[in-house]
Amino acid sequence: MHTPTTLAEWKALAASLTLDTGLFINGQFVAAKAGESFDCVSPSTGEVIAVMAKGQGADIDAAVASCLRAWNDGRWHKQAPRTRMAVMLKWADLVEAHSNELAVMESMDMGKPISDMFNIDVPEVLKTIRYFAECIDKLEGAVTSTEASALHLITHEPLGVVGAITPWNYPMLMAVWKLAPILAAGNCVVLKPAEQAPLTCLRLAKLFVEAGGPPGVFNVVNGFGAEAGKALALHPDVQKISFTGSTVVGKLLMGYAGQSNMKRVALETGGKSPQIFMPDLYDLDAAIDRAIGGIFDNAGQVCNAGSRLLVHRSLHDRFVERFVARTDALYRMGDPLDPVTTMGPLVSQVQKQNVLKKVHLAREQGARMVLGGQTGTPLEAGAYVPPTLFVNATQTMAIVQEETFGPVSSLQAFDSEAEALALANDSIYGLAASVWTADLKTAHRMVGALQAGVVWVNCFGDGDMTQPFGGYKQSGNSRDKYKDSLLSYMQTKSAWFNLA
Ligand code: NAD
Repeated sequence: MHTPTTLAEWKALAASLTLDTGLFINGQFVAAKAGESFDCVSPSTGEVIAVMAKGQGADIDAAVASCLRAWNDGRWHKQAPRTRMAVMLKWADLVEAHSNELAVMESMDMGKPISDMFNIDVPEVLKTIRYFAECIDKLEGAVTSTEASALHLITHEPLGVVGAITPWNYPMLMAVWKLAPILAAGNCVVLKPAEQAPLTCLRLAKLFVEAGGPPGVFNVVNGFGAEAGKALALHPDVQKISFTGSTVVGKLLMGYAGQSNMKRVALETGGKSPQIFMPDLYDLDAAIDRAIGGIFDNAGQVCNAGSRLLVHRSLHDRFVERFVARTDALYRMGDPLDPVTTMGPLVSQVQKQNVLKKVHLAREQGARMVLGGQTGTPLEAGAYVPPTLFVNATQTMAIVQEETFGPVSSLQAFDSEAEALALANDSIYGLAASVWTADLKTAHRMVGALQAGVVWVNCFGDGDMTQPFGGYKQSGNSRDKYKDSLLSYMQTKSAWFNLA
């Protein structure tokens, strides 16, 4: 497989692609029942790249019915664990074999730089599928201590039909964080991908069937949240909704579960992660480079983005000066298909306007912008927002309290560890945090005090599949990745045998 290396080559590949635009139900692409559609728009150019079938309630019913048929005849969960493992490993191999087209599709659809697709998204997708495939035959139940005349078995069984609702910031990866454990556990799934970037999820489903996955086990219904997403979350035959997205929608889903069948609701929601720089940190320049990546990678459209910089007052001026200079050197905005681009546009014009409103409000509330402003022509037409930094931010400002989901950071100075922790924890969110210090005791104490599901010490964003990922407080109630998330898509059965 030749991987393109130039913008011209990537553009040629993009032009040659055949995009799937239907709903994927029972192993094939079908039109939406109401015949409606919506446009998939490139955020860098504004061009319509595909016209997608728009699924609504009747299409969700059809997809869930397809899952139920597959569940009831056991075509997936009753297969031997190693047979299912082989299908999932083959699926990963096919995803790898199609990585060029998946990368280019997502780059066009979502605006992510093609280099990020190759360095981050595609390898992480492969790692996730393979990790959960390998877990399939490692699952064990238990036999507990009983009197001689009894036998007690504890086993784990899949839930049945699971719904997954996913966001646009890592369209394929966020979906696979759900799909891989859902399918590895033996469930059937209906995925409702984000309407802003559905293309790669459809291809993933098609490749699953090509890998030997039985039709009907993995269905995809494109569409809008308030229609298809809501119908899925209200469906009485869906046993669990696994969601990644905003806190506002997460709360709605809990309500839908209560209004319908009390289905389980797993939420991975918003964040406003602090990055704390203590006065004794051992390499300020290296820390600043990581801090910059922590907020500006993926144009800040990251749930755990380290958007609150908390810097000890003794480091403040040097920190700001270097942060501004290095951001300039590290990020190059441009066409996402150009291999030299390191920052693409935001996902849509709507998201650009949301972010610009927050930038405007930050200025009105008295924060001082020391980085950001114009994107410069010819990028003005796209959904580009340049890396932006506000200093003199205070705790009650919206720029400190509200998720921006764009390349915008606030910086606050602190004088003591206690003050840094108080600022860090004063948030409705608790997804992630980082601490930079050379002192192990300080690090250990601060990790214990930080209200966050993930804490990084002297790094930001590091980890692998063994790391449970999810938040405290209103950042969610669940964990993706690591092997226990497989169990979260299963239920526990106790079987007590009377042998007397
Ligand atoms: P969003 O909540 O607007 O949409 C997410 C998904 O929910 C989409 O598929 C959307 O169509 C669907 N949806 C919207 N309204 C719905 C409704 N009423 N019923 C059912 N489904 C509905 O979020 P977004 O803008 O796509 O993504 C950004 C958000 O995702 C940010 O808040 C970010 O922090 C969060 N996120 C969290 C994590 C995490 O792991 N915690 C990871 C990535 C993104």
